[in-house]
Amino acid sequence: MKIKIGTMLRDTVRSLFRKPVTELYPAERQATPERLRGQLYWNPEKCTGCCLCMKDCPSNALELITIDKANKRFVMRYDIGRCTFCAQCVQNCRFNCLEMSSEDWELAATTKSPFTVYYGRDDDVESILAHLSGAGHQEAE
Ligand code: SF4
Ligand code: SF4
Repeated sequence: MKIKIGTMLRDTVRSLFRKPVTELYPAERQATPERLRGQLYWNPEKCTGCCLCMKDCPSNALELITIDKANKRFVMRYDIGRCTFCAQCVQNCRFNCLEMSSEDWELAATTKSPFTVYYGRDDDVESILAHLSGAGHQEAE
């Protein structure tokens, strides 16, 4: 394919005076659509522990850990790396405990740890994490 030098130079000079078509992301961010499916959040207040969300998740991205079923104390483990953002869990929860943020969508990370999120009461999450680190320690021994 022959490129005409004159045409190329004309295009180059023209582009120097044009407004760039690219955006200065992340310095400038576009508003996100209201229904964008970003990070999943869990509200434990009305959760019955039915586990329907977990069973319906096609990616095995959710685990509901029971702390005290009688007192409805659970911890939800959410694996962002597995989530396909299908929203099936959101639609199937009869108690509207789950929602997907339209704001939190920049989920890339350079390490694995930010991809596993635990939701629940702070003391419950702490006890689960302590248990997991203890189990990991025992396995390593
Ligand atoms: S489907 Fe809803 S109520 Fe049932 S365990 Fe999941 S979040 Fe809780
Ligand atoms: S959005 Fe889809 S893939 Fe992600 S946790 Fe819910 S059901 Fe699973």
